[in-house]
Amino acid sequence: KVRVRFAPSPTGGLHLGGVRTALFNYLFAKQHKGDFILRVEDTDQTRFVPGAEEYINECLAWCGILPDESPAKPGAFGPYRQSERKPSYRQYAEQLIASGQAYYAFDTPEELDALRQTQPNFRYSHENRMELRNSLSLSVEETQQLLADNAPHTVRIKMPEDHIVSFDDMIRGRVSFETRLVDDKVLLKADGMPTYHLAVVVDDKAMEISHIFRGEEWLPSAPVHLLLWEYLGWSADMPQWAHLPLILKPDGNGKLSKRDGDRLGFPVYAMNWTDPKTGDLTKGFRELGFLPEAFVNMLAVLGWNDGTEQEIFTLSELISKFSVERINKSGAKFDFEKAKWFNHEWIKNMDNADLLPLVKASFDQYEVSGVEDASVSAVLSAVKDRMTYISDFWGQASFFFQVPENYDVDAVKPKWNADKTKFFEDILLEFENIEWKSTVLEPFFKERVQASGMKIGELMMPFRIMLVGGKFGPDVFLIAELLGKNEVINRVKVALN
Ligand code: GLU
Repeated sequence: KVRVRFAPSPTGGLHLGGVRTALFNYLFAKQHKGDFILRVEDTDQTRFVPGAEEYINECLAWCGILPDESPAKPGAFGPYRQSERKPSYRQYAEQLIASGQAYYAFDTPEELDALRQTQPNFRYSHENRMELRNSLSLSVEETQQLLADNAPHTVRIKMPEDHIVSFDDMIRGRVSFETRLVDDKVLLKADGMPTYHLAVVVDDKAMEISHIFRGEEWLPSAPVHLLLWEYLGWSADMPQWAHLPLILKPDGNGKLSKRDGDRLGFPVYAMNWTDPKTGDLTKGFRELGFLPEAFVNMLAVLGWNDGTEQEIFTLSELISKFSVERINKSGAKFDFEKAKWFNHEWIKNMDNADLLPLVKASFDQYEVSGVEDASVSAVLSAVKDRMTYISDFWGQASFFFQVPENYDVDAVKPKWNADKTKFFEDILLEFENIEWKSTVLEPFFKERVQASGMKIGELMMPFRIMLVGGKFGPDVFLIAELLGKNEVINRVKVALN
């Protein structure tokens, strides 16, 4: 059975790269009728941030990528927070020590810091481990004594000096590493907590994970994980890995980071995140007015395509069309203008019934009430192809619900004359007798303009400004139809005075 996991550390808001990782895991799982698991990797207590787990849950829910198992929805493989699995890890560290593939290290943080001071490139590795204080360099008696005295210690993996370890990555094919270049990573910390390296392997095994999609930044850790799978005797159960290419800055110059958003003026988080310590707010796509469907669609095609020109995909289409073979090997540049285009397309093509509650949510704020849904829906049809964000509705459509507060007088005044006043006074009287539909109004208006000897633009633009306040909005005759005959007559009268 396909079982995948998204394994974030609860250290802050969720970067769009993190959501894309979750999404690709989810798509793969659902395509194979498998399970998508959320596992919270909270073993680094110094980096734990309150509220981050709730944020992750909310974010996945907003995107519609719901875990089958998670801390909030436990299944048969719980607990789903690593801190709650703490007792399960030590035995494996001990097992590795017994088999000679790991060792106790008694060096204190102060000793290691001192070494890093004098040797900027200090690494705890096969090159120097015999000069440091650990169960390989000390005698058996010394080690026993230190353990009996409860001397603080970590457990480190003993990296072989001269192995080549390899695996087949689902995206990049065969990948090999020289173990001599890898340091002796800590597996179990002095507080008894496992590090990420030990916990990730033990839990992927315990949770029967079959496939892993994770960020490319984890590729350098792969040799450690590979050896752990082997040393623990679990090679046959090792999941298949796919290391996803990075999401790059718009100019392609390096990984898109949290800080880039502020600098470049667009969000990098899925939703607003307020740092509980500093109170600093990092803005998110959700609050900016992105539809979750558009956000997910945009992320999916950041580094993946279905081999055709198609760009707009629903989540269920993505589930059926997703394929690992079509994930790009190189990084994907993030293009915020393109992200906005996706939102625009989604809004434009969305059913009014689905958009209605989203736009109506802002009506209170603008003190609009008593408008019938049918009217809002008609207005939506007229303006939704002009919206990038849900919040654009009001800017594009307020004049349908309220008399304009300001008029672009400057656009009209300089060329105004008595003929124009006369034209509108006359046409107002005739409006009373015509059928109030844009398809009737438009030819009627144009015919009157022609009869007057003036030019169409000279009269249509003022007509628009009388109704809208400015030189924007959809077709003016459609606006007139939707406003209704009385309202149009009133607005023209007000404007003429
Ligand atoms: N806890 C890691 C993270 O925060 C998970 C890496 C992995 O998927 O193995 O990204």
